Amino acid sequence: MTDDMNNINNKKNIVILGGGFGGVACAIKLNKLMKQRPALLRDFNIVIVDKKNYHLYTPALYEVASSAADDGAPLNLKKVIVTPLEEITRGTSIKFIQGTAIKVDVAKKEVRFDDDTVMEYEHLVLALGSEPAYFNIPGLKEYSIPLKSFENAIHIRSVIRKKYEEKPIGAEINIIVGGAGPAGTELSAELIGYIKRLNQKSRKNIAPRVMLVEGAPDILPGFSTKVVLKARARLEKIGVKIKSSSIISETDEHSVYIKEEIAPYDALIWTGGVEACSLTRVISLKEEKRGRMETNSCLQCAPADEHLDIAENVYAIGDNACFYNPANKMPAPGTARVAIEQAKVAAENIFRKITSRLKIEYKLKNYPFAIPLGGKYALTQVGPMLFVGFSGWILKQLIELYYLFSITDNRLAFRRWLRGLGIFAKND
Ligand SMILES: Cc1cc2nc3c(=O)[nH]c(=O)nc-3n(C[C@H](O)[C@H](O)[C@H](O)COP(=O)(O)OP(=O)(O)OC[C@H]3O[C@@H](n4cnc5c(N)ncnc54)[C@H](O)[C@@H]3O)c2cc1C
Repeated sequence: MTDDMNNINNKKNIVILGGGFGGVACAIKLNKLMKQRPALLRDFNIVIVDKKNYHLYTPALYEVASSAADDGAPLNLKKVIVTPLEEITRGTSIKFIQGTAIKVDVAKKEVRFDDDTVMEYEHLVLALGSEPAYFNIPGLKEYSIPLKSFENAIHIRSVIRKKYEEKPIGAEINIIVGGAGPAGTELSAELIGYIKRLNQKSRKNIAPRVMLVEGAPDILPGFSTKVVLKARARLEKIGVKIKSSSIISETDEHSVYIKEEIAPYDALIWTGGVEACSLTRVISLKEEKRGRMETNSCLQCAPADEHLDIAENVYAIGDNACFYNPANKMPAPGTARVAIEQAKVAAENIFRKITSRLKIEYKLKNYPFAIPLGGKYALTQVGPMLFVGFSGWILKQLIELYYLFSITDNRLAFRRWLRGLGIFAKND
């Protein structure tokens, strides 16, 4: 990273840590705003930093975890689910640097990386996302597979495939998914289809037993009753066993303990909770119990010591941020849409600060969402309209295309989307 640092430490840096949904949207918005005042780019760099060299489209991870297509080799799948950060920043004033941040010193306005290089910043945006939370449940971290990264999705697919191969004809395969938020719900539905597709190829007639375990009274906590009922009906129809109000108390190599029940598994997947990424735990900013940075309505962080005024130039967005919705005092949910909308506000506020104007406030809205539930079926909410089934599935594809258009060249975006559709539609 040293060469990269030499290129940027000659100007004031607006540093965006994390090239996920929030980080990319923030950089793109800042680039647009800076174009209005090109002279500012003589004084400021827009720098986006990520430990990976790509941006991951998480809403399609469940497709990777369940792809049985002949063209579903990991490299092919990666090409359609990730967008290189260099491609996103090409032709813009944004500089991408690959590096793993290990420390942020808000007093010195510095970020330290794992190769011991240091980057100074004038403005900092924390967009580092989240990590799985295991709530100290014995055995859970050791024996379950999370679904957060591309590698996790490939690991889930290969573990299930291996267990499948080991089964005799006509046996059962037990898959337990802990956590019935959107990720767990989507994955459970898709895994039923995955086993069926493996059966079509091998004719082993293995029976898929997928159990979705949720501690809350119902699946999809936080979603409307209408969405929950429709999702429940769909999951039951395709054969997912739902176990709500059920808390996993322990797991070992072979079984999950839920109240008095011991449920054996062949594959255990954990999507039951996240906490802010570990780096944010060591920054002297005010955080809540899951490690997210508490922000004000302009998305600026608060210092851990309220007498200090060191956090004014530090923003937190997306899964890194804890923004309390004034309407119900609840934190904004950890979704890509929230990250993107918060990113735009943080970018606007940095630009306003530089151009000496008043900041704007972030207002949480009901954003569109799509929950695919096996086959060409999804529940997609846009405004007041809920599209159920095939129409929801079509809309979900269009939402993805629209998103890709917003981050990269239209031609490349369309080509990536079409290739993905070609591979993933075989799942459906
Ligand atoms: C399986 C799954 C399905 C989902 N489906 C949906 C969906 O359908 N709709 C929806 O709205 N939301 C969905 N989400 C949630 C959504 O992905 C997150 O809310 C969103 O990614 C948050 O954006 P972010 O920018 O805060 O973090 P992220 O998008 O996670 O980005 C964080 C970035 O920071 C980088 N990073 C982390 N630590 C470091 C470090 N130390 N140094 C440098 N870089 C670092 C990471 O590599 C990553 O690129 C899903 C999540 C999962 C896991």
